Amino acid sequence: MSKKEIYQHIENNAVFKGLKVNSGIQQPEPVNHESVKRFLNKSRNLLPVNDYVTGILNGDITLLSKAVTLVESANAKHQQLAQDIITQCLPHSGKSIRVGITGVPGVGKSTFIEALGSYITRHHGKLAVLAIDPSSERTRGSILGDKTRMEELSVDKNAYIRPSPSAGSLGGVARKTRETIILCEAAGFDHIFIETVGVGQSETAVHSMTDFFLLLMLAGAGDELQGIKRGIMEMADTIAINKADGNNIEKAQLARIQYNNAIHLFPKKESGWDPIVLACSASQKTGISEIWDIIEKYKELTIQNGYFKIKRTQQATYWMHETIQEQLKRNFYNDHDIKLKIKDLENLVLEDKLSSFVAAGRLLEMYWKMK
Ligand code: GDP
Repeated sequence: MSKKEIYQHIENNAVFKGLKVNSGIQQPEPVNHESVKRFLNKSRNLLPVNDYVTGILNGDITLLSKAVTLVESANAKHQQLAQDIITQCLPHSGKSIRVGITGVPGVGKSTFIEALGSYITRHHGKLAVLAIDPSSERTRGSILGDKTRMEELSVDKNAYIRPSPSAGSLGGVARKTRETIILCEAAGFDHIFIETVGVGQSETAVHSMTDFFLLLMLAGAGDELQGIKRGIMEMADTIAINKADGNNIEKAQLARIQYNNAIHLFPKKESGWDPIVLACSASQKTGISEIWDIIEKYKELTIQNGYFKIKRTQQATYWMHETIQEQLKRNFYNDHDIKLKIKDLENLVLEDKLSSFVAAGRLLEMYWKMK
């Protein structure tokens, strides 16, 4: 470590009160091997942008993971570095098929991702599996919180599994997931799965960053019971009735017919794609290759009719606006003066002395004046 780097040690920042890192005597390098040096490099020692970018473009998983950690960090310096890395990776991204996979906890998402994912890495290429639900919002069934549930994929060198960032608003997590997609694609992952628990708002976010949307359902459980809203079914490009095995096969076939009727009552899709309903068993690995064939057919059709590109462009503009909104909001709520004032106005609203609109107006006016 150079003297300059020691002087700029992160813990010398004023926020670490009582801590002072003195510049010491430069020690000789203990080992020369590149990978060992990298290992010894503590995570707080940031690398130059180019090191991350070159590593990612060479498919180096360690550097990819470090860059994703920067994307997830709330630290302004990390964020700046992350944005620089993303900008340089952007021209190398986009060459993948992005698949959103949703379904209520227990439907078999992790088992399914393991089955389809292993099929893909065996026959078609590399796969990154990301999640969008902030862990704090998760109920049981967080596939990625518990990697051991995907035994095969978690040791597959062609697969990269990244758990969802542990905290933050859905909007924030969604943006980070979208940025992570870019990094994974630049690292050569040509298949991206984004998993979400299909009970909240998150599937809209997943839909806004994927090419193909797959909904997993169960036979014999009413839609009410599965908590799946009509809007989510409407978004689906394919519905797979999972657990079609053992005594459940007949029920699954019946459900397939019912859902097939239901899905065709929805308006025709802009993509020109006719949604498909089929039955599968993630644990028995039946219907899995068929689902892959469907995804490939979808890609072929939408590339041919131009929708694939249109959707990606629409998504890029959508994310531009989402990012603006998120950053404006963050900037407002993190403002020192606003923080001081907001409690007073909140109390006035609680005491019915001020309407919420007037209070919001006053705070916003104060904010604009300061800018
Ligand atoms: P997730 O919460 O949606 O990720 O669901 P999991 O993949 O953890 O699966 C929930 C339970 O259903 C586990 O006990 C699985 O072994 C079981 N399961 C998953 N897929 C199938 C399937 O195709 N058939 C059967 N019979 N069980 C399954």
